[in-house]
Amino acid sequence: MCYDYKTLTADIDRLGYDFIERTLIGKSVEGREINCITIGGGRRTTLIAAAFHGLESITAAAVMRFAADYAAHITSGEMFFGKSAARLFVRNTLHIVPMVNPDGVNIAAHGIDPSNPVHSELIGMAGICDFKREWQANARGVDLNHNYDARWDAIKEGPSPTKYGGEYPESEPETRAVTGFVRRVRPDALIALHSQGREIYRDFNGYCPAGARETAHKMAAESGYAVRHPTGTAAFGGCKDWFIHEFDRPGFTIEIGYGKNPLPLNMLDEIYEEIARLLLSAMA
Ligand SMILES: [Zn+2]
Repeated sequence: MCYDYKTLTADIDRLGYDFIERTLIGKSVEGREINCITIGGGRRTTLIAAAFHGLESITAAAVMRFAADYAAHITSGEMFFGKSAARLFVRNTLHIVPMVNPDGVNIAAHGIDPSNPVHSELIGMAGICDFKREWQANARGVDLNHNYDARWDAIKEGPSPTKYGGEYPESEPETRAVTGFVRRVRPDALIALHSQGREIYRDFNGYCPAGARETAHKMAAESGYAVRHPTGTAAFGGCKDWFIHEFDRPGFTIEIGYGKNPLPLNMLDEIYEEIARLLLSAMA
């Protein structure tokens, strides 16, 4: 079982609170909607984005569970993992983009029927691959976490299931959906969710903006995740790299859960609390 675009759309529709705003921030290569859910109107603004990679849809399931849970606690007035949700709601504006790469998630979740022309196109472009085990990219074989303008490098020469940075930075509509929205709302902090590793990354190119160290420590203390430094291809072209580079504000990559991607969706029951605590600790 996988948390795909259809499940996400149904979950967004179900979030029927009048204090939750939904914004269409862009569309994928195949025309799927990329939505943002906004909760609260407080001064401190945090943007959380998930499912950049096809095999990592558990991150979308995690933020949607968090959004629903947060909204329910705002309404009930009950404590949310030891914090007052009502108070957080007043102080914070939380933007959540649950699925940056809906096409890639669908390719990884369902594969592609060989009768579909996209099947031969992708296999021709990217080489033979097992979509359900390997597909991380969007529907054009671009890895959306290598397509940002931060020491961008194509890394690979052409379309691939993973790690091809595209023809140029922000060449992909999914990337531009995120950068356009972020440039508009200018959040104080950005959190990009990936799987897996139980790790927190907080710097870009050896640089760490003011306040990022403290927040990373809080998140680590709440979740038990380790703060690490990126190496190799994980070190540039990513969403948090670009955010740090362009805004000089704290940007984080969080690798949730532990195991081999795709992590089974039922793992979320085990790891939800650590993720929720981590996200809450990043808010004011
Ligand atoms: Zn990832």
